[in-house]
Amino acid sequence: MESRDIMTIVQQGARTRFVVTGIVQGVGFRPFVHGLAIELRLAGFVGNDSSGVFIETEGPPAVLEEFRRRLYEEAPPAARIQTVEETSMATLGASGFSIAPSVARSSGSALVSPDLATCDACISELENPTDRRYRYAFVNCTNCGPRFTITLTMPYDRPQTTMDRFTMCERCHSEYENPQDRRFHAQPNACPDCGPEVWFERNGSRVTGHAVTAARKVVADGGVVAVKGLGGFHLACDAFSELAVSLLRERKGRVDKPFAVMVADLDTARTIAHLTDDEEELLMSRERPITLLPKKHGTGLSEIVAPWTGHIGVMVAYTPLHRLLITPGDVWVMTSGNRSQEPIVNRNEEARSRLASLADAFVMHDRDIHVPVDDSVMRKLDGADLPVRRSRGYAPFPVALPIDVPPLLATGGELKATFCLASGRHGFMSQHIGDMENLETLDAFSAAVGHMQGLFRVTPQMFATDLHPGYLSGRWAERIADGRPVVRVQHHHAHIASVMAENGVTAPVIGFSFDGTGYGTDATIWGGEVLIADFTRFERLAHLATAPLPGGDAAVRRPYRMAMAHLWAAGIPWSLDLPPVAAASPEERRVLLTQLERNLNVVQTSSMGRLFDAVAALAGVRQEVTYEAQAALELEALADATDDDHYVFEVRDPVIDPAPVLRSVIRDTQAGVPVGVVAMRFHRAVVDMIVSVAITLRDREGIGTVGLSGGVFQNVTLTGLARRLLEENGFRVLTHRLVPPNDGGLALGQAMVASAKVR
Ligand code: ZN
Ligand code: ZN
Ligand code: FE
Repeated sequence: MESRDIMTIVQQGARTRFVVTGIVQGVGFRPFVHGLAIELRLAGFVGNDSSGVFIETEGPPAVLEEFRRRLYEEAPPAARIQTVEETSMATLGASGFSIAPSVARSSGSALVSPDLATCDACISELENPTDRRYRYAFVNCTNCGPRFTITLTMPYDRPQTTMDRFTMCERCHSEYENPQDRRFHAQPNACPDCGPEVWFERNGSRVTGHAVTAARKVVADGGVVAVKGLGGFHLACDAFSELAVSLLRERKGRVDKPFAVMVADLDTARTIAHLTDDEEELLMSRERPITLLPKKHGTGLSEIVAPWTGHIGVMVAYTPLHRLLITPGDVWVMTSGNRSQEPIVNRNEEARSRLASLADAFVMHDRDIHVPVDDSVMRKLDGADLPVRRSRGYAPFPVALPIDVPPLLATGGELKATFCLASGRHGFMSQHIGDMENLETLDAFSAAVGHMQGLFRVTPQMFATDLHPGYLSGRWAERIADGRPVVRVQHHHAHIASVMAENGVTAPVIGFSFDGTGYGTDATIWGGEVLIADFTRFERLAHLATAPLPGGDAAVRRPYRMAMAHLWAAGIPWSLDLPPVAAASPEERRVLLTQLERNLNVVQTSSMGRLFDAVAALAGVRQEVTYEAQAALELEALADATDDDHYVFEVRDPVIDPAPVLRSVIRDTQAGVPVGVVAMRFHRAVVDMIVSVAITLRDREGIGTVGLSGGVFQNVTLTGLARRLLEENGFRVLTHRLVPPNDGGLALGQAMVASAKVR
């Protein structure tokens, strides 16, 4: 019976060549294919080449079909298949399955893997006293460990990484050479005998003894330790200690912008935050982002870790070193090792000088971080990811583009800067660089561009940048372009193009582009824009009524001034019982009034972010802020979803007038309506306005797809509700899942618009 079946197989056999692209090298893909083929008794071979993995298999068509299915379904955890190309071939009557020698890799078309959190198998070794890697801070394998941050250039081989200086010992080398081993071609493979080491430093000198024990003691005593991690240094302290956290805030000059915390495991995370199943999955994913979660109360955690917002950013230890430092039950503040406004520190020397005044001690190691990469920040929206910052664990995995683009570089905006290096159907979004307001950040930006261009061998033929003439990223593009075209893309158009691109949409959409600030085409500051847009063009069909922004930055830092400007624009008197009016001194009120009446040092803005600020001030939530979007975040945190009433904008085509909303906020607040209810009614007002404007535009323009983008849509209460109601009204709704709705996703949209312009 058995032998007859085999005869039939040979007679009816088929041979297929598969070319698999994506992240398929250095992730255990060849051993996986080898094992699968042996199990299915298929003949052929598998190997690496410049574009990815090639496979030839021969056997009965039904078995080949199973092979094809399991290739996708059972691929190793660290692999990310992008495409599988298949070609039928003549059968060779071959037998046996082998791993073929690698074909010389000269082009850089293979993808670079993002860094991966330590896998369970490596954790067990780390915790097993009989394992040779027991408590070794650099345990890793093909399924986990550093990737992007240690890669100097492509192809991804050990000599091209910062592991180059360590020579593998015999045992490590035999693991590396053995296709059956979990460390087959694991480039950062190491052990205590041959790999990097950790040490503890204080006052500039190395302290002998156990680094982990020494560091834990500093934290237990209420101090701050700088810890070298995967993408750079963190500043760490005990999140239960009010004194330690306030010390860190004082040294960093960070007043109340929330700190993220790190815990050892899911159980500890559950003790400080409420988690849904989706959030647990995200928290424990191999990307291990900081996940924004509703904070539990009465946990003993210092209130000043994440004051006022109701949320806490939690991440689970993602390197063996973190795992050794932080034990179950511990909650450590882990914030980027930098001074406010500067990029994250990644080199030992730099840490010694720049972090000396911030940290009491250092946990150092000698595996160099070639690419500084901050932690990613994610939220969940109706079960889907909503990126707030896309960085470690995600970069430099490309966004698949819906159209072919020429090699180009989009330089993003000013805040939360990232860039997009694009070519063909790949949009390589950079890691988070920071706010491009100083030369240090610009240098970091420039270095990151150089590295990614080398990695992916993309030489830009053109540049895309924001319309704003003052942005450093734009000036940098003009300087570097050297005769190549620089396309200026309007900020809110770029936001909408960004959400279209990641959703694979090219046809025109109704775009709601709501954020804090973006340079308009009419010399006003935009931010509450309704556009009809595709990649080639946009039309501004509606916008929030403009209000004067008195003194620019001062109005951004002091929402009460923004509220007073909105009141003035709406013709509502500055009554002293209104919280924002009371917050201003009589002198300030007098100066402000003169400024507004004479239109001195005032720019007009249609910003939705500023309207959130004004409402937060009017509802008595916050009069001054110390970080971007603080007032809006706090308003969202307060919103009481059980209330289903809403305020109403007055829509007078093309202007959306918030005056009636402001009057309602004042009326309710004065009547003693709880602030959470006022906050919710305002959120619902914005949603109601979005839906009614969308319906009007659909009737007029015949477009049924809506895109929601811009920093305001980081607000999940707003975005979730808007999507639900739009869908109920028959719209297709595009929201962000891959890149942030804030300016961290801007470069993707710029790339699309610029490439469409030259087509
Ligand atoms: Zn591992
Ligand atoms: Zn070794
Ligand atoms: Fe923006």
